[in-house]
Amino acid sequence: MKTYGLIGYPVKHSLSPAMHNAAFKRCGIEAEYKLFEVEPERLREFFSHFRESLSGINVTIPHKEATLEYVDNRSEAVEEIGALNTVVLENDVLVGHNTDVTGFIGALVDDLGFEAAGAKRAVIFGAGGASRAVAAGLKRLEIKEIFLTDIDGEKAAVLAEGLIKQGLAAAAIEFDKRALGELVYSADLVVNATPCGMKAGDPPLFDPKYLKKETSVFDLIYNPAETPLIRDARKVGCSASNGLGMLLYQGAEAFELWTGEKAPVDIMKEALLKALGRS
Ligand code: NAP
Repeated sequence: MKTYGLIGYPVKHSLSPAMHNAAFKRCGIEAEYKLFEVEPERLREFFSHFRESLSGINVTIPHKEATLEYVDNRSEAVEEIGALNTVVLENDVLVGHNTDVTGFIGALVDDLGFEAAGAKRAVIFGAGGASRAVAAGLKRLEIKEIFLTDIDGEKAAVLAEGLIKQGLAAAAIEFDKRALGELVYSADLVVNATPCGMKAGDPPLFDPKYLKKETSVFDLIYNPAETPLIRDARKVGCSASNGLGMLLYQGAEAFELWTGEKAPVDIMKEALLKALGRS
């Protein structure tokens, strides 16, 4: 029996075991997916036993960057973003991948129907690990401009600078709700890559009066299914999507990297919805 899993701190509310164990079962693969709550100071020790006990893992907060030093090879996406979310053991070599990029692209294009190419402008709230994957995805889709904002202005500035060096038109915007509202009004796509909206009573990211129906809205949060941002966007008539599709597609790509089998996406989605009590 092969063992896969998720390392993070904390991880106990993760939906990944439900999604991956359903996929292993459907494909007749003798494997299990477990949760590993690993404190940052135990990361080195965890990786020292990897080859003896594991075939692959997903990586989440706060380890997406710290794990870079424990893999032998990194995919192009990992090099570009500076963070990984999947590790594959291939012939005794640990290879780091980032499936959040294709996960985001799949959900944005397939679920939301967004066409990024052309004179399109995106505003991304948040400049952490997920935001970097979103920006890399938008770059691959040839979006014209990316504006970034974060409570921590320095983080947004560093990310924007990195994107500019890669040849993208990007800028960091101060976290000022009025200025951001005007920017949102001019945007084709608004992405929430912050945790703001997960808890009841979280303040809005911007005044919803700046949303117009032509704007597409993507919130990386999937629980709750309808954040205040998604609710406001739907009220105006925008195309809007939560983060469940991204979770699904990043998981599907990780499954394919580990097993070489085509991921049973419908079964994985059904397992996610059941785990969320939405089936
Ligand atoms: P992260 O590394 O902590 O980055 C989030 C960033 O947003 C931080 O810089 C944070 O600043 C900032 N922030 C927090 N509240 C804000 C607000 N109200 N306005 C502006 N900026 C704010 O987290 P992450 O890994 O990028 O994840 C971000 C969100 O995406 C989380 O909700 C996560 O669950 C979700 N996510 C979803 C998927 C999916 O598959 N659907 C995948 C990855 C992540 P501080 O650090 O100062 O708080």
